[in-house]
Amino acid sequence: MEFALNQADQNFVRTLRDWLADAKPDGVGTWEHWHPPGEYELSDSPAAQEFVSRLAEEGWLGGSLPREYGGQGWSALQSFLYLVEMAHRDLPSGGMGAWSVGPALARYGSSYQKSAYLEPLVRGKCTFALGLTEPSGGTDLARLTTRAVREGHEYVINGQKLFTSAAHRSTHIWLAARTAVTDPPHRGVSVFVIPTDAAGVSYTGLLTQAGERTNALYLDNVRVHERELVGEEGRGFSVLMEAVDLERLTLCAPEVDIILEELLGHWVQDGAEADDGVGDAIAELMMWAEVALVVGVDAAWHADQGRRISVEAASCKLISSLLRERATDLALTVVGEGGQPVPPEAARGTRPSPLNVRYLQQAYKAAPKYRFAAGGFDVQLDLIAERALGVPRSRTFRSEP
Ligand SMILES: Cc1cc2nc3c(=O)[nH]c(=O)nc-3n(C[C@H](O)[C@H](O)[C@H](O)COP(=O)(O)OP(=O)(O)OC[C@H]3O[C@@H](n4cnc5c(N)ncnc54)[C@H](O)[C@@H]3O)c2cc1C
Repeated sequence: MEFALNQADQNFVRTLRDWLADAKPDGVGTWEHWHPPGEYELSDSPAAQEFVSRLAEEGWLGGSLPREYGGQGWSALQSFLYLVEMAHRDLPSGGMGAWSVGPALARYGSSYQKSAYLEPLVRGKCTFALGLTEPSGGTDLARLTTRAVREGHEYVINGQKLFTSAAHRSTHIWLAARTAVTDPPHRGVSVFVIPTDAAGVSYTGLLTQAGERTNALYLDNVRVHERELVGEEGRGFSVLMEAVDLERLTLCAPEVDIILEELLGHWVQDGAEADDGVGDAIAELMMWAEVALVVGVDAAWHADQGRRISVEAASCKLISSLLRERATDLALTVVGEGGQPVPPEAARGTRPSPLNVRYLQQAYKAAPKYRFAAGGFDVQLDLIAERALGVPRSRTFRSEP
């Protein structure tokens, strides 16, 4: 079996690396540059925003979208390789719009939606937050209660969403709402695109333990034209799940390499001893990081064959959340007291270089969120058990098909 990338994909990676080598202004790529003290939101830092604008100008941002809408028509594998290269350098890659919503709109959107959203998305003028999870739960998405009721050529939407990350800096929400009460419940779910500045849309910020902002979103008699319904009314669930699969694929954790390289450098410099167990632990995690990469490539390849990638994407999500937790746990062990999660100001200078203590602390605090991001951990296990192993689903209570 030939595991190497084909010539076109190798050229793709080389071109991207060359561009990144040229494009990185001084200081870009360091933790301090993207996360100035007191500011925790990666893509909210002015440097990050500037960099994403540059990605848009140079055609990297919406590369996965079809050429007719300004994209580059990348394959799923090329999109994945792009994300890997960016994550290896701790660079912002441009948000979920380009990698999850964009491809779903390209496939299911009307011609109006494609021209209204895809080109602006590629140019960085249209950005999406995902409005799926509700206070009553995110796992059992099919039972969502936000209602969209048709009135003439409009829908009137009422409800509440939770963890609507990036809503405060996005132009639009990719919204899941119930258009009918049905049995099974997923048949009554529809998807809408709504502007964040529409009358009746409001949000309040929530901070995660890592200091990252997400939001509670409120929809109070929000009126949206019927042309903003994506696909058919009541058939939105598969549109949503396809976008969620792509989101899971993006979680494939290549940035864990940065943590492991930090730890390796520190451990060697600090007088590594072969029998202290740390080297073994780093070696094991590096092996798992390699496995995560292969699982991601496999998922992307399946997507390129036009197949649904639910099982592969769930595997990406599972392995990546485990890796992040284990790598950051190990970091804490290696760094010792200096690695305790403390406010960044207090952490400054706790431990001299080469170890980037702030980076490790932040990664440690952020790791648990990946258990929940794009769907609960246990549910991915259920999904693989049911769909890949054929285990009966009698003990599960999800209401999706
Ligand atoms: C930092 C952060 C950012 C997020 N950003 C977004 C966003 O931008 N947009 C968005 O829509 N959502 C977002 N989410 C929500 C995320 O998708 C949900 O947290 C996730 O879907 C789980 O939903 P829940 O938190 O309501 O947990 P629940 O669904 O209540 O689940 C709680 C626990 O029960 C387990 N569980 C649930 N059902 C089953 C079952 N059938 N079998 C076995 N175990 C089960 C889960 O695995 C989990 O451990 C974000 C979450 C976080 C933490």
